[in-house]
Amino acid sequence: MTYDSSLSSLYEKAAYIKLFDALAGHNLLLEANPPLFTILAASPQRLQDVGMTKEAVVGKPLFEAHPGNSDDPTDNGVSNLRSSLDHVLRYKEVHQLPIQRYDLPDEQGRFSEKYWRASNRPVLNDKGDVIYIIHTADEITAEIKAAQREIQMAGVEKIFSLFMHAPMVVGLVNGDDYVLEMANEAAFKLWGKQPQEIIGKPILQGLPELMDQGIIERFDQVRTSGKPYTAHEVPVTSLVNGRREQHYFNLVYQPYYSRSDAKVTGVFTISHDVTEQVLAKRRTEESEAKYQTLFNSMDQGFCIIEMIFDANNKPVDYRFLEVNPMFEKQTGLIDATGKTAKQLVPDLEQHWIDLYAKVALTGEAVRFTEGSEAMRRWFDVFAFDIGNSHQYKVAVLFTDISEHKKAEAALKQSESNLRNMILQSPIAMAILRGPSFVVEIANDRMFELWGRGPGELLNKSIFEGLPEVRNQGYEELLTGVYNTGNRFTALGTSVTVPRKEAIGTIYINLLYEAFREADGSISGVMAVATDVTEQVLARKKLEENEAALEAALEQVRLSKEAAELGTFDMDLKNGAMHWDKRCRFLFGISHDRSVSFDDDFIKRLHPDDQDRVAEVVRRAFAKSLSNGDYDVEYRTIGAEDGIVRWVRAKGKVYFTPDEKPLRFIGSVLDITPQVNALQRVESLVAQRTKELAAANDNLSTLNKELQRSNANLEEFAHAASHDLKEPIRKIHFFTHQLREKLSAHLKESEVRSFSRIENATQRMGNLIDDLLLYSHVSHRPLETERVDLGETVQRVLEDLELDIEEKKAVVKMGKLPFVNGYKRQLQQLFQNLISNAIKYSKVDVPPTIDIRAEEVEKTATRYYRISVKDNGIGFDPVYADKIFQMFARLHGRAEYSGTGVGLSIVKKVVENHNGLIAVESEVNEGSVFKIYLPQ
Ligand code: ADP
Repeated sequence: MTYDSSLSSLYEKAAYIKLFDALAGHNLLLEANPPLFTILAASPQRLQDVGMTKEAVVGKPLFEAHPGNSDDPTDNGVSNLRSSLDHVLRYKEVHQLPIQRYDLPDEQGRFSEKYWRASNRPVLNDKGDVIYIIHTADEITAEIKAAQREIQMAGVEKIFSLFMHAPMVVGLVNGDDYVLEMANEAAFKLWGKQPQEIIGKPILQGLPELMDQGIIERFDQVRTSGKPYTAHEVPVTSLVNGRREQHYFNLVYQPYYSRSDAKVTGVFTISHDVTEQVLAKRRTEESEAKYQTLFNSMDQGFCIIEMIFDANNKPVDYRFLEVNPMFEKQTGLIDATGKTAKQLVPDLEQHWIDLYAKVALTGEAVRFTEGSEAMRRWFDVFAFDIGNSHQYKVAVLFTDISEHKKAEAALKQSESNLRNMILQSPIAMAILRGPSFVVEIANDRMFELWGRGPGELLNKSIFEGLPEVRNQGYEELLTGVYNTGNRFTALGTSVTVPRKEAIGTIYINLLYEAFREADGSISGVMAVATDVTEQVLARKKLEENEAALEAALEQVRLSKEAAELGTFDMDLKNGAMHWDKRCRFLFGISHDRSVSFDDDFIKRLHPDDQDRVAEVVRRAFAKSLSNGDYDVEYRTIGAEDGIVRWVRAKGKVYFTPDEKPLRFIGSVLDITPQVNALQRVESLVAQRTKELAAANDNLSTLNKELQRSNANLEEFAHAASHDLKEPIRKIHFFTHQLREKLSAHLKESEVRSFSRIENATQRMGNLIDDLLLYSHVSHRPLETERVDLGETVQRVLEDLELDIEEKKAVVKMGKLPFVNGYKRQLQQLFQNLISNAIKYSKVDVPPTIDIRAEEVEKTATRYYRISVKDNGIGFDPVYADKIFQMFARLHGRAEYSGTGVGLSIVKKVVENHNGLIAVESEVNEGSVFKIYLPQ
């Protein structure tokens, strides 16, 4: 590059500089002296723009005065400017720089972002060389920023809409109260709110459930620090449809500047709901953990093995890939992981290898119990295929059951021992299995006790085979033992079971013991029984005897007290005699010294009784004569008081086996009052008998007279009535004739008089008839005959047919008996009763007459009671006796004709038959006449 430093150019230079000082715009005059590009002049505008003095700029190389922002790597202003200047020097043409960022420092040396529209223009001399470069730069920072913001804004809108529909919860809270200014759809969905419910409200007001979840604190932190807050899987409880739900979020809380004044006013939150993932992760973790815990804590052995095959694909061994802690204990193999089975147990049986190989090859799980001689153990194994088909991996879950096996064997042994023991036991034993008590085993004695054979009972519920015992309480007892395990014992309990022919009650001592399995569970009941029927019966008898004895003794004691019995007890071996106080009293002895048989007993008896009593005693002492019974009455003459007392003595002599009298025990009772009373009664009776005999004589005389006068009376009545009948008939006949003759001449009052005469004679006739009848029945015919009362009544009804029809009477008749009696009289009797029943009926009620017979016993005699019941007018029961008297009538003649003789006849007939008669009646309630005829 050439440089002209001639004077003219100097002048020119000065002129340019001058020009520049006045030049408007933003210009620098640069010397074309690369790489310095010394600033020759700067326009005032320029100096102002960059805030520098002329001195600080002019005369300095360009890049020294404007060093560029080395803090900001995006500021490439310096290099761009340098290459533009080079371009101008080389091509001597104006070069327009693209919009430039060229940050300028302030007084403190801090750069601020500046944008420029700049160009470099060459100043050429005559020779066409570039001598200066005019650098023009307009600051367009404001313009650029505006444009940038616009672009930014467009971006924000896009982002906004993105946010609004984003599948994450977006919100913007602003201000001290964190007013929710914005939230997206996902947010509203999560919160279960409509925008209008919460937008514009402080967040805690709209979503109170967020309180106490640390959210506000985090907002505060973001606001004060101005730094974003990020967190993962933060649990947040929200109210969704009124239900609290926990969600997990990955959060970003971004500081939010509402204005460009660099102050954080709010928080922009973006929360990503990761609940699903968190839960899924947890579940996996949990199941992982569970598996691990299971694996480690399992009390079963567990291992994963890999099968090893030889060249011919024959399984030859397997390797333990993983074993759990229990493995060692269950197998006894130490540090098995990585080793093969044959390494650990060289003589391991091939069948183990084959079994697992089969699982690996077929993929089918197996469960088996198998022993290993080589390992001296038994195992319960469950093996299943895992991994893919080429891996031949098998998981083996197993338990060492050697102990169990041993126990089982021992149990079998003990069970067979038990069976033998039961079968051979000398007492009855059985095992009843299960809740229905199936007879599993029982020995012969037990079958004997049950009264049934094995064929009927074995393998059957005891209550099925022996239904007799079902309701005797044994089922409850057995069930009790079976359920609780408590032993039951009973001594001498009764049970009814089949005996040879019939059902019998036996007594047994019984023991029910719960029958337990090896694990302690109850599987049945063992019954042990001994037949103690004989002992029990003997004991019962004894008890009964004892009770009877006790009762008797008690009775003796009571009656002794009540009867003031005295007792004596004589020991016949030594003659010692014991008399109690009462006994002594009866012999007039007040002392309690010893007494003797001869002096105090025999000699103190009344002289008339001494020999007799001595004889009775002698007989009592001879077992063959009296069997020891002693019962005698005698008089004593009091030793001290001389009083004579009547005593009754009763006693018993007890003998030795060879019939020697041993002991004489008995009681004495003072019967003086009874004897005195008896004597008094006897003399009274004798006297009364005498009196009675005299009276009797009188009576029979009277009776005879009475009978005679009765007979006379009856004869008279008979004769009188008989004799009266004829005159009455005549009066009737002639009166009738007379009235016929005179009828044409008679006045009405005279006709009435005739009627009265006729009526009166009629009545008189009736009365005479009745009296005749009465006199008939007052005789008993000599012979009785068998009378069919049914037929008798039937005949009466026929006779009364007209009356019955007229009154529309209904007669009900039961079956009537045959009696021995007088037919005609009985017919008369029913005639009177039935006709009364028709006659004394109510005016408007047709009579109903009920005649029936019953057998009854009255005053120790069997009777037929024949009742004639009507529904008529009845009468006051006070007249029940009166109506049977002759001529007694209760009802007026005007309404009810009659003579008052009918029931007298009835009564007489009844008496003739040695019967009784009674009537029950009530006014308007009908009457019942009851006749008792002896059978
Ligand atoms: P009479 O000829 O008056 O019927 P009875 O000796 O047969 O005489 O009866 C005596 C009285 O007893 C009757 O007058 C009547 O007042 C009463 N009497 C008898 N039988 C009946 C009856 N079945 N119901 C009501 N009263 C009766």
